[in-house]
Amino acid sequence: MTTTPRMSLPLVNCDRLLQSIDDLANVGRLPQGGVRRIAYSPEDCQARQWVQNQMTQAGMTVRIDPAGNVIGRYPGQQDHLPVLATGSHLDTVPCGGRYDGAFGVLAGLEVVRSLHDRNLHLRHPLEVIVFTDEESSMIGSKGISGRVFPDPDYYRRPDGESIQDCLARVGGNWDQIHLAQRQPHEIAAFLELHVEQGPILESMGKAIGVIEGIVGQRRYQISVEGQENHAGTTPMYMRCDALVAASRVVLAVHEVANTPGQQVATVGQIQVFPNAVNVVPGRVEMSLDIRDLSSLHIDRLLEQLDLHVQEIAIATNTKIRFERRLRNEPALAEPHLQEIIATASQALDLSYTYLPSRASHDAQELAVITDMGMIFVPSENGLSHSEFEYTSPEECVQGANVLLHSLIQCDRYYSDTH
Ligand SMILES: [Zn+2]
Repeated sequence: MTTTPRMSLPLVNCDRLLQSIDDLANVGRLPQGGVRRIAYSPEDCQARQWVQNQMTQAGMTVRIDPAGNVIGRYPGQQDHLPVLATGSHLDTVPCGGRYDGAFGVLAGLEVVRSLHDRNLHLRHPLEVIVFTDEESSMIGSKGISGRVFPDPDYYRRPDGESIQDCLARVGGNWDQIHLAQRQPHEIAAFLELHVEQGPILESMGKAIGVIEGIVGQRRYQISVEGQENHAGTTPMYMRCDALVAASRVVLAVHEVANTPGQQVATVGQIQVFPNAVNVVPGRVEMSLDIRDLSSLHIDRLLEQLDLHVQEIAIATNTKIRFERRLRNEPALAEPHLQEIIATASQALDLSYTYLPSRASHDAQELAVITDMGMIFVPSENGLSHSEFEYTSPEECVQGANVLLHSLIQCDRYYSDTH
């Protein structure tokens, strides 16, 4: 058995990282400590400007691409090599936390500052990317992957503002958004550090999550057609009650998904027609959201569900239809990047586990064009998209160090293989 000598690698500056998290949380701060930085808002613009200033001070050149992404570049020893990239987003949901997105950007910034302090450069140039509007459209990362929908109306904001105006405000340009697309040979790998936004790491007592991939997602509209009728005069045995059938479908969804495996399935929306106390429900419309790392597994779950649904339709004398509304394929993390993150965690004496991400991230778009890896740190009580989102200072520093060491390992890996 051989033992690997302990690497003497740089560590990030804890105090500076934590101070940056505090400083940025003041931009759009809410009374209970959360943050409101909706994409393209004055607060979002202010945060983007703040990060640009920090990037420049850390020895990076900064540009804004037509999709509005802020891209800081720290030169490599061999500056012609493809870049190693990291980053995340600064925009938040209306009542968000201070870590979702911002933490990944600030940890990337801190990695560069830590190298810059020591006048170190990786062989590869290093980019820290602030992606535009992760929370609603992901237009920034989709710009980079080349998967922006051509119709600008698709991106119109809820208040009616056009995407042209929004992008112009953050330094982007809708008419040239195709130029934001990056080619596979330009980016060697992308690593995103993010808070878990779920309870798994905390419940397992693990410091680091090595992400296996970002789950695929399907959404369906389920329509149940029965017969509306008088709630007093229609005997039970003569009813075609759409809500009774729908209720059984909800239970079947739960039953099919609540089996070994990492899949999740949810009926989260339901409408009953005519929705009156004295009428047997004639029609129900409801949603189905189903997610897993394997498309094949989702197919199998849907087949099982279909068998249940056919039985339910016969038993309740109703018609049940599924209409697909969304299909997102899973984005798998590159196995060697998972290994690099696991090795970096070990080298730092940090416990880790492998897990899928069940939330969307910019990394899923980057996976379309390059090798993708993701690192999670715990979220207290699994809370996120909440003012009460919390990750301890220690956990933040641990995550940033794993990012730093993983990028250093990537620098070696991609130097050897390209
Ligand atoms: Zn996020």
